[in-house]
Amino acid sequence: MELRLYNTLTKEKEVFAPLDPARGVRMYVCGPTVYDFAHIGNARPVIVFDVLYRLLRHLYGKDKVKYVRNITDVDDKINARAAQEYPNLPLNEAIRLVTEKTEKQFHEDVDALGCLRPDVEPRATEHIGEMRDLIDRLVKAGFAYVEQDHVLFEVGKMQDYGRLARRSLDEMEAGARVEVAPYKRNPMDFVLWKPSKPNEPGWPSPAGIKAPGRPGWHIECSAMSWKHLGETFDIHGGGIDLVFPHHENEIAQSRCAFHAPIMAKTWMHNGFLQVEGEKMSKSLGNFITIRELLVTEKFGGQKWHGQALRLAMLKTHYRQPIDWTVRALEEADKTWREWQGLAIALSANVLEDMSKLPSRPLHPAILKALQDDLNTPLAIAELHKLRNAAVHDHSKESAVAFSDALRVLGLFKDDYSLQSQLSDAENKAVEQKVLERNAARAKKDWKESDRIRDELKAMGVVIKDNKDGTTSWEIAR
Ligand code: AMP
Ligand code: ZN
Repeated sequence: MELRLYNTLTKEKEVFAPLDPARGVRMYVCGPTVYDFAHIGNARPVIVFDVLYRLLRHLYGKDKVKYVRNITDVDDKINARAAQEYPNLPLNEAIRLVTEKTEKQFHEDVDALGCLRPDVEPRATEHIGEMRDLIDRLVKAGFAYVEQDHVLFEVGKMQDYGRLARRSLDEMEAGARVEVAPYKRNPMDFVLWKPSKPNEPGWPSPAGIKAPGRPGWHIECSAMSWKHLGETFDIHGGGIDLVFPHHENEIAQSRCAFHAPIMAKTWMHNGFLQVEGEKMSKSLGNFITIRELLVTEKFGGQKWHGQALRLAMLKTHYRQPIDWTVRALEEADKTWREWQGLAIALSANVLEDMSKLPSRPLHPAILKALQDDLNTPLAIAELHKLRNAAVHDHSKESAVAFSDALRVLGLFKDDYSLQSQLSDAENKAVEQKVLERNAARAKKDWKESDRIRDELKAMGVVIKDNKDGTTSWEIAR
């Protein structure tokens, strides 16, 4: 069985093999622009490429996969948000506050969705030197020019510009807006570097430009992937909207700077997410953040567990568009809760053996599904079968096959402690109640202590008073 991945560049499902097996698999995914909570559409690439990351680690070993996902911390939207939120602070200070806060929120959200952190999360502002270096190379090699303190990539100089998006330059020019910026030789030429306006963040410019400036959007990913993965690497991912112009332009920059035939070998793109049949947008009022799904009842009248959201996402193949509906969430939530309860119950029986085993082969049906271009809907259908087997035959093999399949999909936490199945807030709430109950018991207030025990029971938590005087608790099965 081989891993096959659909490559946007060739429009074919190809057998995947690392370019340099000694270095392992190198993967880059375009990350968030940090100025506000991530919406549920942004969660899709994070979840999809997390499943791929887990699968690659399973296939090649943990030390043989390097996953880089950047943080875009230089952008007009960030500047605008910083000025609006902290009008009395110097802009640089305000930007730092906004980007740090948003990055933290993003991590909390995607952690709740069961996503592993990438191996490296480079920030654009920490790679300005590499961007300048790339831009200087492009100017020197004749692929870029300086005009009015801007540096532009001259698309006409690259023979197969448009190959990823399958558009010819003529077509693109015909569709370009009539009004073309005065510093462009060709309407499709794109900005590598631009002058900073007074009060905007700025850095020393490349290509002999005196005025301080800031990078265009595309150059940052060429710089960060180069620094952390090399001139060419294996997999580059992101949402389908990034194919053009972002990824097309990343390819143009990297290939021309390094005189390389490819930037990444396999280009992977997730389909778009819409909400209840409509494009998600603030004006339609159907814009929904990951955080709102986790902690408010705005969507469907209830809070959702992160891993139930994840299951809902993975029920659709990553290249298909997905319609995010309350009904689909309810269904996924029901399944996930049942699976979680079962996995916890099973893990209690086989816990010790499992933690000692380093890595086991996945069930062939799960492996086959995932190796076929990440066919998660099929893997989930197979999981239902593994669940039935685990329930009916009580064997350790079935239990292990079921839990491992859950784990490779990121639907079961990697450690088996019962508490880890709850969110931090839920854990804290339970711990607090246990303390209150202990206090009541110390005062011999049995009525109060029983009341708290019943209250916890109603939450699905069972209390156990141990012989040594401690109290432990677990989720009811
Ligand atoms: P952005 O912050 O807009 O650059 O988006 C971050 C990532 O989320 C990119 O990979 C986008 O392609 C992806 N993305 C944005 N909106 C959606 C959506 N509605 N459905 C799926 N992916 C999306
Ligand atoms: Zn990018």
